[in-house]
Amino acid sequence: MVRCGGAVLRKYGNFIDDLRLYVRGGTGGMGYPRLGGEGGRGGDVWFVAQERTTLKSIRERYPQKRFVAGAGANSSVKALKGEKGKDCEVHVPLGISVLCDDGRQIGELNAAGERFLAARGGLGGSLATNFVPCKGQRRIVHLDLKLIADVGLVGFPNAGKSSLLSKISHAKPEIANYAFTTVQPELGKIMYADYKQIPVADLPGLIEGAHANKGMGHKFLKHVERTKQLLLVELELYKEELLTKPALLAINKMDLPCAKDNLNELMKQLQNPQDFLHLLQDEMIPANTLEFKDIIPISTYTGEGIEELKACIRKSIDEEAEQENEEYRKKKLQLLQTSGEQMNRS
Ligand code: GDP
Ligand code: MG
Repeated sequence: MVRCGGAVLRKYGNFIDDLRLYVRGGTGGMGYPRLGGEGGRGGDVWFVAQERTTLKSIRERYPQKRFVAGAGANSSVKALKGEKGKDCEVHVPLGISVLCDDGRQIGELNAAGERFLAARGGLGGSLATNFVPCKGQRRIVHLDLKLIADVGLVGFPNAGKSSLLSKISHAKPEIANYAFTTVQPELGKIMYADYKQIPVADLPGLIEGAHANKGMGHKFLKHVERTKQLLLVELELYKEELLTKPALLAINKMDLPCAKDNLNELMKQLQNPQDFLHLLQDEMIPANTLEFKDIIPISTYTGEGIEELKACIRKSIDEEAEQENEEYRKKKLQLLQTSGEQMNRS
C-alpha cells in the first residue's frame, strides 16, 4: 500500500487497480423570490466507460482526484428558470466496479459508453424551498478495476505462465527462475491467421494459502472473475463459481527428463481423481475439482504443443460464444412469444 495525498492506493509496480475519488454534484441556483422564479439544478458528475483509459491516467491528469460539477444558474428577471449547471464527465476504463467508501458496490461499468451517475446536482431554489438552493450530492467513491480477458492463466509460481504468455503473444512479461516474478497482471493477445484475437491475462500470485489471502492472494484472484476461461490449476478454495468456468490444462516443461513419466502419472490421477485423494493432506482435499476440457502437454522451450494449445483455446472460446448466442436467441424468442400472448389478450 502506498499513501499518496491522503488517498490509499494499492500499487504493483506501475499498475493501479483501485482509485479513490471525491465527487460532488453542483449546487443549485437561487430562486427569484419576487417573481416566483426557480434556480437551475446543479450539474451531475458522471463516470463514462471508455477504451484506452487507465486509472493511472486519471490520477496523472487529475492529481487532486476531485470532480465537481457546475452550479446551476440563479433565476433572474430575464430567465425565471435558471439554467442547469454543467455536468462533469470522468472517463474511466472498462471493467470497473464503483464502490462506496465502506466497500459497498454501487455500480459497474463494463462496455464502452456505459454511464454511471456518481453525484447528482442539487435542486435549484424555488417557492417550495423559500428560494434557497440545495447542495449537490457529495461522496467518496472507489474505482475498482477488474481485468477483462477471455483467458486467464493461473498456476503455481514457476510453472512457466509468463514464458507461455510470451510464446503465444507479443507480450514481454518478466521470466525468472524464482517464484513471484510476476507481481502485476500482464495482458497479451493471441493472434490467429484469420485475424481473430484472443486476449490472455497472466495472473500472478496463485499460491497455497491464496484463498486465505496470504501472500499476494485475493488482490489478484479477483481479476480471475472477469476472465471467460482458465488455463491451469485448482481454484476451488477461492470461489465456487470459478469452478464452473471452462478450463484447459497446459502441462509445461515437457522437454525435461522424466516429464513423460510424470505426465502419464498425472493423466492417471486426473482420470480417476477419487483413487488419489487419500494422498493429499486433509485440508487440501477439494470438495469439487475442475474438469478440464482439454489437457495439452507443452514446452515453451521447444515449442512442443504450443500450436495445439492455441487451437484448443480458440475452439473453446468459439464454442462458448456459440453457446451464448444460442441462449440469447432462446431468450429473445421467449420474450417475443410472451409479448405476442399479451397482445392477443388485450
Ligand atoms: P511463472 O512464474 O509461472 O510465470 O514462470 P516463468 O515463465 O517465469 O518461468 C519459470 C522458470 O521456468 C523460468 O526459469 C523459465 O525459463 C522456466 N521454463 C518456462 N518454460 C519452460 C519449459 O518449457 N521447459 C523448461 N525446462 N523450463 C521452462
Ligand atoms: Mg510469471
